[in-house]
Amino acid sequence: MAPYRNLEEYNLEVTSEVKDRYSKIISEIGEDVSRDGLIKTPERAAKAMLFLTQGYKQDAVEILKSAMFKEDYDDMVIIKDIELYSLCEHHMLPFFGKAHVAYIPNGHIVGLSKIPRVVDVFARRLQVQERLTHDILECINNTLKPQGVAVVIEASHMCMMMRGVQKQNSVTTTSGFRGQFEKIETRNEFLKLISSDLS
Ligand SMILES: [Zn+2]
Repeated sequence: MAPYRNLEEYNLEVTSEVKDRYSKIISEIGEDVSRDGLIKTPERAAKAMLFLTQGYKQDAVEILKSAMFKEDYDDMVIIKDIELYSLCEHHMLPFFGKAHVAYIPNGHIVGLSKIPRVVDVFARRLQVQERLTHDILECINNTLKPQGVAVVIEASHMCMMMRGVQKQNSVTTTSGFRGQFEKIETRNEFLKLISSDLS
């Protein structure tokens, strides 16, 4: 993915509004927003936040449809260890980890690079890990209409690591299964194939 400096999509009005609010927040927490190191921080923070939530403006269905191909292959396709960065909607702090996605084609396959992009579209929003898992699952299921789809996400939440319970090493795992993956043997095959990376 391109670094956010290259993103041409910043709405100047929105960026400026968000920047002003960050400026206020920095003052409220007791900092001097006019000191050297902080002068450009409100603008940088605004752009970072807009980058991290750009998924609201992107269409995961269109991304999948742009690279669907007719193909008779009907074995399991697995894309594992997809890097994932999102923001928890309760604290607006990052959670991050890996997604593992599998599907069994039903006449169509999709360009492999599109699956990580779909993960990104839903991750770059305010999320909870459970809904993120479900969003990815349903999008692939409804668009590609495969014989089955499976999504597993393992993630660490900064809101748990940095504050509150401070359970620093805990990893939250969520999963969803549709179609063939609802069968225990198919699901187990998938879990076995990704398990070298499950801790
Ligand atoms: Zn949180």
